[in-house]
Amino acid sequence: MSDLWMSAISEFRERVSSETYRIWIEPIVCDGLHGGRLSLRVPNQFFADWISAHYLEGLLSSIRKAAPEAGAVEVNFIVDATIPVSELPDDIEVDDRATVPGSVSAISRSLSRRAPIAARSATRRYRDDQTGELMFERAPTPSAPPPSEYALNPRYHFDNFIVGSSNQLAHAASIAASESPGKRYNPLFIYSKVGLGKTHLVNAVGHGILEQNPSARVYFLSAERFTNEFISALQHKRIDQFRARYRSECDVLVIDDIQFLAGREQTQEEFFHTFNALYHADKQIVVTSDVYPQRIAEMQERLISRFQWGLVADIQAPELDTRIAILRKKAEQERLPLTDEVALFVAQVVQSNVRELEGTLLRIAMKAELMGRPIDLPLVREMLGTPVAQNAERLMTVDDVQRVVADYFGVRVADLKSDKRHRTVSLPRMVAMYIARERLKLSYPELGDRFGGKDHTTVMSACRKINATLVTDDALRTSLEVIEKKLGF
Ligand code: ADP
Ligand code: MG
Repeated sequence: MSDLWMSAISEFRERVSSETYRIWIEPIVCDGLHGGRLSLRVPNQFFADWISAHYLEGLLSSIRKAAPEAGAVEVNFIVDATIPVSELPDDIEVDDRATVPGSVSAISRSLSRRAPIAARSATRRYRDDQTGELMFERAPTPSAPPPSEYALNPRYHFDNFIVGSSNQLAHAASIAASESPGKRYNPLFIYSKVGLGKTHLVNAVGHGILEQNPSARVYFLSAERFTNEFISALQHKRIDQFRARYRSECDVLVIDDIQFLAGREQTQEEFFHTFNALYHADKQIVVTSDVYPQRIAEMQERLISRFQWGLVADIQAPELDTRIAILRKKAEQERLPLTDEVALFVAQVVQSNVRELEGTLLRIAMKAELMGRPIDLPLVREMLGTPVAQNAERLMTVDDVQRVVADYFGVRVADLKSDKRHRTVSLPRMVAMYIARERLKLSYPELGDRFGGKDHTTVMSACRKINATLVTDDALRTSLEVIEKKLGF
């Protein structure tokens, strides 16, 4: 593939999310630049249209940067159905959710997205007895389903959610809420770190409710979307419509990532009244968050307390067995041949995040396909390195790495976690970060946390720096060898 294209996309990569890059840019095959025309092969026409509409300008500017001498470049898309389409994004914005690149629904959704939401039928206003709030009720016309942008993610069901001790309670509560919505588990509040299945589970609740009652009006949206719609309703004086929708045209409200409301006083106020209206009408409310209610930053007390009226359940990082089961399920869905050996290996290497687990499996499958090789241990080893422990959960921990490194350099573990910049401390810190990253395969953000709450970019640049220094610095290489030996690697 042309160097020009490679350097252009590596520049462009910095500007878009990794999901966007993976889905829309990675699959493109460049056929080279001829007479100012850059030929790009894409899997289908929708792909070409989508890129033209969303990323072409950015790509062209990256191309100009990569090769200013090339002059004006025109892009020519060629449809090549043999190019595989990437897997769907996990957490792409609600707008783009459920749009498989190339599917008809994706096209129609993208076209209809900008269309105004159909005019609502007449609403009745009244004051709620309990809250004194002004309420809106639809006139008794047949209930319209929510517009498609609030639809559930069709991929997230109970039957493809693997249950283990890490998510048992959250799963059981979700089943119960879906079986008798608005009753005992109202609201249902699910929290966990990122990538552990919150969005999946709450979509499954919605699907469960719809299975029993297909006419239930289930609204699924992120707190961010709720906020944006609220602001836009205020600006365009459509607040009545907004309130009608969420307070009386909705039977089940699923709000994902409520922590987004942190510090947004006015939206919190609005959500508070939305909550009350639905709650008093026995409508099921489902909320997710990245922390438990009391820890959501800058959230009104009264909301926090309401979040605890029903059931609060957390999801922990899955144990080894659950990780293996998730890999198997995913492989089955994607029709990938996955041996036990490979599943065990991958599950040992990727420990803390299901999204990463799935992503790793797909990367392996893609590589196997590209190279015409089977998905076997040698391939996976090449890609992922050696797992920390063959038969047990992580034996070596970040604490061990920090202890041994600090000991070796004669500094304190606290120094490694501090912000001190002196080289006597900064070098050991970088070495410890590097070893923890390379050997324990922890994510950059997690490592940042473990090193005194540093930003993930700090860890990234430390790892890069050590990597670069190792090439020329024999002393550092020896130090690393000694330390790693002490750690038993
Ligand atoms: P979160 O919302 O907590 O960040 P998601 O619900 O988006 O996490 O999950 C990330 C990915 O991992 C999704 O593709 C989801 O289907 C998958 N996943 C998470 N937990 C499980 C599980 N227990 N079984 C099957 N898939 C799971
Ligand atoms: Mg989520």
